[in-house]
Amino acid sequence: MQAEVIYKISFPKPETHYVHVEIEIDKPAGTFADFIMPVWTPGSYKVREFSKNVEQFEGSAEGNILSTQKTNKYTWRVNFKKGIKKITVSYKVYSFEMGVRTSYIDQFQAFLHGVSIFMYAEGYASKPCKIVFAKPASWAKITVALPESAENTFTAENYDLLADSPFALGNHDLFDFKVAGINHRVAMLGEGNYDKTKIISDFTKIIEKEVSLFGDHPSPEYVIFIQNVEAGGGGLEHLNSQTSVIQRWAYSNEAKYKSFLGLIAHEYFHLWNVKRIRPIELGPFDYTKENYTKMLWQVEGITSYYDDLFLKRCEIYKEEEYLGLISTAINKLENLPGSKVQTLALSSFDAWIKLYIPDENSDNSTISYYHKGMLVAMLVDLEIIKRTNGVKKLDDVMRLLYTKYYKEQKRGFTEEEFANALENVAGSSFNDLLQSLVYSTSPIDFSKYLNYVGLELKNQPATKMPLGITTKFENGKTIVKSVELNRAASKAGLSANDEIIAINGYRVNGDLEEFSTRFTEGKNVEIIVSRMGKVISLNLRPEKDPTVNYKLTGIEKRSEDQKKLLEFWLK
Ligand SMILES: [Zn+2]
Repeated sequence: MQAEVIYKISFPKPETHYVHVEIEIDKPAGTFADFIMPVWTPGSYKVREFSKNVEQFEGSAEGNILSTQKTNKYTWRVNFKKGIKKITVSYKVYSFEMGVRTSYIDQFQAFLHGVSIFMYAEGYASKPCKIVFAKPASWAKITVALPESAENTFTAENYDLLADSPFALGNHDLFDFKVAGINHRVAMLGEGNYDKTKIISDFTKIIEKEVSLFGDHPSPEYVIFIQNVEAGGGGLEHLNSQTSVIQRWAYSNEAKYKSFLGLIAHEYFHLWNVKRIRPIELGPFDYTKENYTKMLWQVEGITSYYDDLFLKRCEIYKEEEYLGLISTAINKLENLPGSKVQTLALSSFDAWIKLYIPDENSDNSTISYYHKGMLVAMLVDLEIIKRTNGVKKLDDVMRLLYTKYYKEQKRGFTEEEFANALENVAGSSFNDLLQSLVYSTSPIDFSKYLNYVGLELKNQPATKMPLGITTKFENGKTIVKSVELNRAASKAGLSANDEIIAINGYRVNGDLEEFSTRFTEGKNVEIIVSRMGKVISLNLRPEKDPTVNYKLTGIEKRSEDQKKLLEFWLK
């Protein structure tokens, strides 16, 4: 492969958190080239302005400095003479944000997240790239899901693949295992109390189930980067790798470990769903601005549905545990005021300005396409199972999308084509159902779908009288974080950021629950708050907790059909 764009990466002073990047382009056309730093990272739909960390951009050719200028917030222009043989640009990137969507460098390690480090030159993004590292001598390893063509030298077919391939450098723990004939490499970034044997065994189970759904594995190799951190979470999918975060000592906590396995299953499923099976708008990417789609619920909701379902299929979650997770998700949606305000399609489209930048009113005005999307994916799955009497399920839709759009047509699909795929598998139209679940905020009759498989939701209403707020206790002050619309506190005029000083003449010290046990329904209480320094008195009428608290259980007399469909659904 003839490399036409060469990236030279070095770390002269890693303790200052800088990486030096040099990019060489052979025989550039014209008299200038524009170098662009992406503003966002595929997989996380928010403008992150990676160019804010770029410094000292310079251009040179044949030993001479070239003139450069910025043309907008993310573009650097280099000017040169026509017919020049080669140009080189260089810049530094400050990288001090540990996470799956950002880069981090210190004297011990570097984690380079492609779009936050590598610029591309306009017109050259489809060219092959060669990446050459000069690393500190004390760093023994470089790990990336790209071919190593020489020592510390890697190749990528094009910029998209380079941008989508994180690099880890340092002395991290590495171990390999094979599934479906594909080499899998785990890179443990940071220490943790993990058990390698257990991890390999659990990852293998999950991966085998996922591969068996699709029938083949499209990656040449696969790397699982695990950031073992003090606090935090999250993950990000890539074409042939994933980055997932776990609290470093959480491996010994059963519930946390299972939830981590769910994350691994989630990011792994993305190697098909979104990296290959994708909405038409999500590729090729425009790295310079928002890439809008109404189908993030398909990308993230379906993937969120499958992550725990695969853990159930592996028997990592037993049936009761799995149904418990579903009832928790149903309760959360049913109790969320935003579910009556924002549709799933709009939650997706507006991800750029809402989901990733939540504020105190988010629960009143928005939903998450992960959360409602996961439930909608489940309902769609149950509906297919019902309509085909336990012959087809969502698995068949995923396979159809993979074959038809990724393998045969090599493109993404439209909303209409997604609906057609459902119809194709189930034998009848899903338009009305999608209209209701995705494009409207109509209430969802969960019981109807769960009854197909002989399950029912039993409400266990709460007896307390909470105010309908969230609070934090800080420096001895009880501060309101958010106020839920149409609940007692909201009706009384309580507001986010209010400091609650006293209720009915008694000082509040963080624990509001204790106060609410003494409320009588309909009997007003006085709340003294400080708002922006002014003390005010509010009159609050306690109300019964209106939230639902469903438990999902089997109905007493489950029919043979329901039993058959339940088994088909969960297997
Ligand atoms: Zn995801």
